[in-house]
Amino acid sequence: MIKKKIPYGRQLITDEDIRAVVETLQSDFLTQGPKVAEFEKAFADYIGCKYAVALANGTAALHLCAMVLNVQKGDRVIVPPITFAASSNCIRYCDGEVIFSDIDPVSYTLDFDKVKSLLAKHPKGYFKGMIPVDLAGYAVDLEKFRTLADEYGMWMIEDACHAPGAYFTDSKGKNQRCGNGNFADLAIFSFHPVKHIACGEGGMITTNNKDLYDRLMILRTHGITKDPALMKENHGGWYMEMVDLGYNYRLTDMQAALGTSQLSRAEAGMKRRHELVDKYNKSFNDHPKIKTPFVPQSVFHGYHLYIIQIENRKALYDYLLTQDIIPQIHYIPTHLMPYYQQFGWKKGDFPVSEAYYERCLSLPLYPSLKDEEQDYVISKILDFLK
Ligand SMILES: *Cc1c(COP(=O)(O)O)cnc(C)c1O
Repeated sequence: MIKKKIPYGRQLITDEDIRAVVETLQSDFLTQGPKVAEFEKAFADYIGCKYAVALANGTAALHLCAMVLNVQKGDRVIVPPITFAASSNCIRYCDGEVIFSDIDPVSYTLDFDKVKSLLAKHPKGYFKGMIPVDLAGYAVDLEKFRTLADEYGMWMIEDACHAPGAYFTDSKGKNQRCGNGNFADLAIFSFHPVKHIACGEGGMITTNNKDLYDRLMILRTHGITKDPALMKENHGGWYMEMVDLGYNYRLTDMQAALGTSQLSRAEAGMKRRHELVDKYNKSFNDHPKIKTPFVPQSVFHGYHLYIIQIENRKALYDYLLTQDIIPQIHYIPTHLMPYYQQFGWKKGDFPVSEAYYERCLSLPLYPSLKDEEQDYVISKILDFLK
């Protein structure tokens, strides 16, 4: 018997995690302190980048990325419609213009050829940047997008919230981890409880660019610096200068301690996610009514989400709820959100995204999902489709 409800995603908190947080509560630092720096170092090592900046959440990370790339009024930035709204909202925070471009029908990520033809229709400089999203954990081939961005003088933010630990194989046969900074100028991650690593709330920016890194570190604490090299004057030990208009986007040491503890189990979590996905695939691959995710050889998928495509989606969704299974829809296309419709976006603009949305369903996937719970989910779905 399955007693509790089965959500699409949830955190896994161990005794070790709890100990790490309690230790921090007993230390001198509650908010940003040594645990934040430790988490940043461990995360940068895991991802394989030079710099990592911990922040209050993934949305704050996106906002600061847009700021350090100097997004200004009217700047056009390309974003896919199938992602969490924060991916495009960061451009609006800086008064930039969001230009949606459709997804690829196979990977469900930004369609390279469509971006290419969109760019070709306009003079160089017309678009300032692009934000590819590693949807569900599918590592986008950023080498291709980088070539295009360079050709048109554009910057690139990788929204890698779904993909810590995922990678693609580049044209030289090298594995490129999501967020490693080899192609995107900046990448962002989230530590919301449904994501791979949970901090409660939390975010991270990764980059290999020292100048962007320096500015991010100042912007996350009000634009204030105590670095003598950056100050105009120096009145003594208390002295600091506000050199930029920043925010309070700090992560706390309590959250960072949890993050570091969670990160130490990232490989095990990824392994379990892949096991669960293999089981789903085995159960559904040959079913005529279910389309399972397609993953090419060149992609090591991060599997934040397991998304199937199915015709009778709403009926299945409603049925699963009655069986105490809580699937989710990722995502309602952002261009159809009332807020974005005021800019002229409308139904019919992005047929692939809209068709995808009509049929997508995210099934329960998280390391603590038990085998018998997954079997229950699979049997309920197969029952319904009979
Ligand atoms: C979760 C998420 C975000 C935002 O992260 P928060 O930490 O919730 O602010 C941004 N983009 C994507 C794709 C996400 O899944």
